[in-house]
Amino acid sequence: MAVPFAGGCMCGAVRYEVNAEPLAFMLCHCRECQYVSGGEPAAVVIVPKAAITLKQGTLKGFTSTAESGNTVTRKFCPECGTPVFSEPSANPDLGIIKAGSMDDASWLKPGAILWRSSAQPWAHIDSALPTFEKNPG
Ligand SMILES: [Zn+2]
Ligand SMILES: [Zn+2]
Repeated sequence: MAVPFAGGCMCGAVRYEVNAEPLAFMLCHCRECQYVSGGEPAAVVIVPKAAITLKQGTLKGFTSTAESGNTVTRKFCPECGTPVFSEPSANPDLGIIKAGSMDDASWLKPGAILWRSSAQPWAHIDSALPTFEKNPG
């Protein structure tokens, strides 16, 4: 694991750095994440929000309301559309990074499956991982 680690979007306009070890790495199959990922789960890295520094570029956000009534703002590059961050209203101290935006995400080890209940029948789900029908807790 390399801290700090860095990432950005596909076109290179957005760059960020994270100066903390991830608190968790999870695969989320919720319906909203399927839109963002293209169908498979979103691979989400949870970090303290204060550890994220946007080094370059600007992000556009789209806010949706979850079943719980909480909102999630998903931030993406307005030029190329790459999903980069999510900000959950329920946990304002947490930042969520889409693993696909990291320069090197190969060292991540998934810790849990979220929203199993929304997963597509053809989704690959590692049954060895802790699995939650919705969000944990
Ligand atoms: Zn971009
Ligand atoms: Zn999700």
